[in-house]
Amino acid sequence: MFTKIKSFVAKNKKIVLLCLSISTLILTVVAITILVNSNQAAKANKKLTSGISSINRSETKKESNQNKNNSSSIESLQSNSETIIETNSSNAGKLKASSIASKKHVHEYTSKTIPPTCTVKGYTIHTCKSCGDSYKDAYSTPQHTYINYLCKFCGQPSRSEPIQSLRAWILKNGTLYDNGKAYYIAYGNYSISTLTYEYNKVNDDIQFVYDPNNESTESLLINMIDDISSCDIHYEIYKDRICGYVNLNPSKVNASTTLKLDNFNNYNGIQCTEEEFAQKMSDKLNDLINTIQDKLLYPKTGLKFKDFGFTSY
Ligand SMILES: [Zn+2]
Ligand SMILES: [Zn+2]
Repeated sequence: MFTKIKSFVAKNKKIVLLCLSISTLILTVVAITILVNSNQAAKANKKLTSGISSINRSETKKESNQNKNNSSSIESLQSNSETIIETNSSNAGKLKASSIASKKHVHEYTSKTIPPTCTVKGYTIHTCKSCGDSYKDAYSTPQHTYINYLCKFCGQPSRSEPIQSLRAWILKNGTLYDNGKAYYIAYGNYSISTLTYEYNKVNDDIQFVYDPNNESTESLLINMIDDISSCDIHYEIYKDRICGYVNLNPSKVNASTTLKLDNFNNYNGIQCTEEEFAQKMSDKLNDLINTIQDKLLYPKTGLKFKDFGFTSY
């Protein structure tokens, strides 16, 4: 067999070489074609890859922007403690922010004003409806709070309306007398000095009275009606049947002044002169004012004769 082929190749050497050349050429062309195709595919693949990566990049960028937005909003939320943050469990970052911020909330304060008493300062207290946080401010100094002329805490009369408030005070604290027609308070067994409020009389007046039990000796009283720019002063010495009267501004009363009488009556006309009587009346008045003020008026009511216009006392 080989012998036959060898002899064929030997006889047709040129034809065989030609055939080999042709087949080599064909193979080369096929190879080149395959190569070219594979390059194009690679290029296309490369394009595709870069497209994908650019998509990836833009998505990443978007995501990072979103994160940035999230984180900046977190920051703004954190910096603003007055914002309530909704929690969102699908986002870890937000969740973290929420857990920080949910401890903070808008304090919603309601205010209540506590008035001062005579001894304790007043203030305004602000309390948060949500968490109970509270603080105080607007402190006010202790003061009496007057209702109907008397302090509702300690019962003290108002110094700005002395006659009306002393009237209210005697009505509340005094002892009823004169068949239920008047109230009084007294120092020293109703004999040395007395404050009376004759509430059922037309004048409705307050009287500062020196009125010993034994009416055979003497009596002195100061009548005060609503106006503190004037007062009536009466003095009587019973045993001598002498009486005098004066109406004057309380500021004119002082220890060194002898009262100038509006009216002087000496029934017997023999016991003393008007000047002697006026001097005795002035001395007695000074004693009365000091005694009532020191023993009765000021200790019980906090009022002084000054409050009634007696500027020298
Ligand atoms: Zn709160
Ligand atoms: Zn008070």
